[in-house]
Amino acid sequence: MPYYAGIDIGSTAIKIVLIDENDAIVGQRVAGSGSMFYKYAKENLQQLGKDLGIGMEEIAYIVSTGYGRKLFKEADETISEITANAVGARKAGEKFGTIRTIINIGGQDSKAIGLDEEGNVVNFAMNDRCAAGTGKFLDVAAAKLEIDVEELGEYHFRASGTPLAINSTCAVFAESEIIGLLGNEHSREDIVAGIHFSIAKRIIRLARKVGLNDVVYFDGGPALNAGLVAAIEDELGRELAIPDYPQITTALGAALLAREGYRFTEEANG
Ligand code: ADP
Repeated sequence: MPYYAGIDIGSTAIKIVLIDENDAIVGQRVAGSGSMFYKYAKENLQQLGKDLGIGMEEIAYIVSTGYGRKLFKEADETISEITANAVGARKAGEKFGTIRTIINIGGQDSKAIGLDEEGNVVNFAMNDRCAAGTGKFLDVAAAKLEIDVEELGEYHFRASGTPLAINSTCAVFAESEIIGLLGNEHSREDIVAGIHFSIAKRIIRLARKVGLNDVVYFDGGPALNAGLVAAIEDELGRELAIPDYPQITTALGAALLAREGYRFTEEANG
């Protein structure tokens, strides 16, 4: 049976999803992008195949997407992450109903995508000039607070009182602001909640540009942070649709497009 691969080479992490003929996910892998996107993407695809007992020759079609997509020479096709994200969200978010807005926070950018009833992209807004609303900022802030990004959620829920305001719109200044707050003996919990609310406000402002309709889907690595999810939901006044594996939606979309691409080429070749 042939398999189809979607590889999302992000600025921070490489995400790989393998699907079968029936669009079922047969394997997935997340690894750091490091400095050698191409090398790591190839190694991780091979490793995933090995773990699953699937040879590279059994992968009929590969679609790459994300920041480093053009560097992956083995790809049969490259696709923008906006399209791949929308296709993946439609599939991973089936259980939530019609998704009309996607909020994606990645390692170094954040974006909002507006979809029509059929799931086609109608508009999008992106913020890649300022790191303060991105995963990178969460990584830097967590390091400064000497905690792991995976722990940010727990710290958020232990915060007491009004979350602190983090006003800087640039990650470098925000970092100094965090140092100042620590110096004033604010707890790490309250600072973490402040960071989450500041990111939440920023992403909602971005999402308003594309419209906040029906179901709002949130994905990207930072969607694994329950504290950030709660802050966005508080600011938005409603629940977000979070898929089971929020970091791999775009890779899943690329894999689904690989399956389509393969069928299309087969038909064209008679
Ligand atoms: P990109 O596609 O731009 O490489 P991702 O969507 O993979 O970005 O997101 C990477 C970010 O996700 C990291 O910078 C980190 O802040 C965050 N992240 C990854 N895993 C977790 C986790 N388990 N808990 C909280 N945050 C996480």
